[in-house]
Amino acid sequence: MKNLFLYSCVILSLFSCSKGQPDIVNLYTQRHYKVDEIQYKNFEKLTGIKVNVVKSNADELIERLRNEAENSKADIFISVDAGKLQKAASMGLLQNVSDDIQIDNIINSLLDVNDFWLPLTYRARILVYSNDRVDVNELDSYESLSDEKWKNRILVRSSSNAYNQALMASVIANNGYEGAKKWSKRIVENLARSPKGNDRDQVKAIYSGLGDVAIVNSYYIGLLLSSKKEEERKAGEAVSVFFPNQSENQRGTHINISGMGITKNAPNLENAIKLMNYLLSEEAQNTYVKNSYEYSVNKSVKPSEIVQKWGDFRIDSLDLNNLGVYREDAIEVFETTGWK
Ligand code: FE
Repeated sequence: MKNLFLYSCVILSLFSCSKGQPDIVNLYTQRHYKVDEIQYKNFEKLTGIKVNVVKSNADELIERLRNEAENSKADIFISVDAGKLQKAASMGLLQNVSDDIQIDNIINSLLDVNDFWLPLTYRARILVYSNDRVDVNELDSYESLSDEKWKNRILVRSSSNAYNQALMASVIANNGYEGAKKWSKRIVENLARSPKGNDRDQVKAIYSGLGDVAIVNSYYIGLLLSSKKEEERKAGEAVSVFFPNQSENQRGTHINISGMGITKNAPNLENAIKLMNYLLSEEAQNTYVKNSYEYSVNKSVKPSEIVQKWGDFRIDSLDLNNLGVYREDAIEVFETTGWK
């Protein structure tokens, strides 16, 4: 039995074998995807460490971490927005990334310059357009959606959504507050309808002819194209993917990460490090790309076949902490320009 234990430790050479801690790790996570359950089950099978999950929106989880303070049972905070990780870090709720976490294979530009969080996956906030009613040459940048030719044709969800707040924060960081206000005002004027629904609903609205161009997260197109529901596949097939801001003088397409940080007082620190190393491994990163159609942060892992077909793109190299720094300004821009 002892030999078996040692043998397991050798197999798990990614990790060191821990002693004296219960075999659990506690997550506070904002992620709402089926693939996460697969990851945690695989990790449990591999290590015997049980993953306990508390799911909620990022602000609620941050508030809970703050209230629980040193009594918190949480070991890891996971968000779908670098801005929320920046917020948690700036409130002193996270500790620095451990040296025991393997980051050699992680895309360098996705790492936190302040070393409080690690990227888990990344996603692009792309444009999708109607195959019937839009020529690809008509598209260029986020900024060019302000053109009058898009009047009554643009679809996007509400400004209360974190993905849009992060996008607007990136526009402020790149074009300034006044520039962002002008852009937002024009987008509102060009909307095909008052913002409603989620990203998938915007694609469905193109399919049903309500509008022609939508701003959505890239993985939702993969999810639609691989859906069991015929209507969803049809909606996915009615549109094509466009990566905005790709010209040489442009900044690249806005991306955001899903990311994770270790909480300040993580009671199961060693297990948290093991889980983080597992989630960054090639095996787990492949599980993400194949099930959720996100992009891997591990240089060795290619996107899923569906996503590969869209081709490569240049990402906006903005320090992702800015998505948190400019978040309040972004909300103000939305409010003052009538983006509901
Ligand atoms: Fe999502």
